[in-house]
Amino acid sequence: MAIIGFEIEKCNECPLHRTERTITSDSFEYALDYYCTVNNKVIDEYCESIGELCSVPKWCPLMLKES
Ligand code: SF4
Repeated sequence: MAIIGFEIEKCNECPLHRTERTITSDSFEYALDYYCTVNNKVIDEYCESIGELCSVPKWCPLMLKES
Protein backbone atom coordinates (compact mmCIF):
# COMPACT_ATOMS: atom_id res chain seq x y z
CA MET A 1 0.00 0.00 0.00
CA ALA A 2 1.16 3.52 -0.67
CA ILE A 3 0.15 6.98 0.42
CA ILE A 4 0.34 9.45 -2.41
CA GLY A 5 0.02 13.20 -2.57
CA PHE A 6 -2.24 14.97 -5.03
CA GLU A 7 -3.17 18.58 -5.64
CA ILE A 8 -6.71 19.75 -4.83
CA GLU A 9 -8.53 23.02 -4.23
CA LYS A 10 -11.16 21.82 -1.80
CA CYS A 11 -11.94 18.72 0.22
CA ASN A 12 -14.82 17.66 -2.02
CA GLU A 13 -12.10 16.50 -4.45
CA CYS A 14 -10.51 14.28 -1.78
CA PRO A 15 -11.79 10.70 -1.46
CA LEU A 16 -11.39 10.96 2.31
CA HIS A 17 -14.17 13.47 2.90
CA ARG A 18 -17.78 12.70 3.76
CA THR A 19 -20.87 14.84 3.81
CA GLU A 20 -24.06 14.97 5.81
CA ARG A 21 -27.09 17.04 5.09
CA THR A 22 -27.32 19.97 7.48
CA ILE A 23 -30.33 19.63 9.75
CA THR A 24 -32.43 22.77 9.75
CA SER A 25 -36.00 23.59 10.68
CA ASP A 26 -36.81 24.29 7.03
CA SER A 27 -37.14 21.02 5.07
CA PHE A 28 -36.80 22.93 1.77
CA GLU A 29 -33.34 24.14 2.69
CA TYR A 30 -30.55 21.99 1.29
CA ALA A 31 -27.04 22.39 2.63
CA LEU A 32 -24.22 20.01 3.48
CA ASP A 33 -21.75 19.65 6.33
CA TYR A 34 -18.30 18.37 5.31
CA TYR A 35 -16.16 16.08 7.47
CA CYS A 36 -12.69 14.61 7.16
CA THR A 37 -12.80 10.84 7.67
CA VAL A 38 -9.13 10.68 8.69
CA ASN A 39 -9.63 12.52 11.97
CA ASN A 40 -13.42 13.07 12.01
CA LYS A 41 -13.01 16.84 12.18
CA VAL A 42 -15.58 19.21 10.72
CA ILE A 43 -14.22 20.84 7.57
CA ASP A 44 -17.11 23.22 6.98
CA GLU A 45 -20.79 23.50 7.80
CA TYR A 46 -23.88 24.68 6.02
CA CYS A 47 -22.55 24.77 2.47
CA GLU A 48 -25.34 25.33 -0.01
CA SER A 49 -22.88 24.95 -2.89
CA ILE A 50 -19.26 23.96 -3.52
CA GLY A 51 -18.50 27.66 -3.85
CA GLU A 52 -19.27 28.07 -0.14
CA LEU A 53 -16.95 25.25 0.91
CA CYS A 54 -13.72 26.52 2.47
CA SER A 55 -10.27 25.70 1.13
CA VAL A 56 -8.44 22.65 2.46
CA PRO A 57 -7.92 23.39 6.17
CA LYS A 58 -4.42 23.91 7.57
CA TRP A 59 -4.93 20.90 9.88
CA CYS A 60 -5.42 18.50 6.95
CA PRO A 61 -3.54 15.32 7.97
CA LEU A 62 -2.44 14.68 4.40
CA MET A 63 -1.25 18.16 3.51
CA LEU A 64 2.35 18.09 2.39
CA LYS A 65 2.54 21.69 1.28
CA GLU A 66 0.18 24.67 1.02
CA SER A 67 0.34 26.50 -2.31
S1 SF4 B 1 -8.88 17.53 5.40
FE1 SF4 B 1 -7.37 16.59 4.00
S2 SF4 B 1 -7.61 14.38 4.24
FE2 SF4 B 1 -9.41 15.37 5.13
S3 SF4 B 1 -10.92 15.38 3.46
FE3 SF4 B 1 -9.81 17.34 3.36
S4 SF4 B 1 -8.13 17.01 1.93
FE4 SF4 B 1 -8.92 15.00 2.55
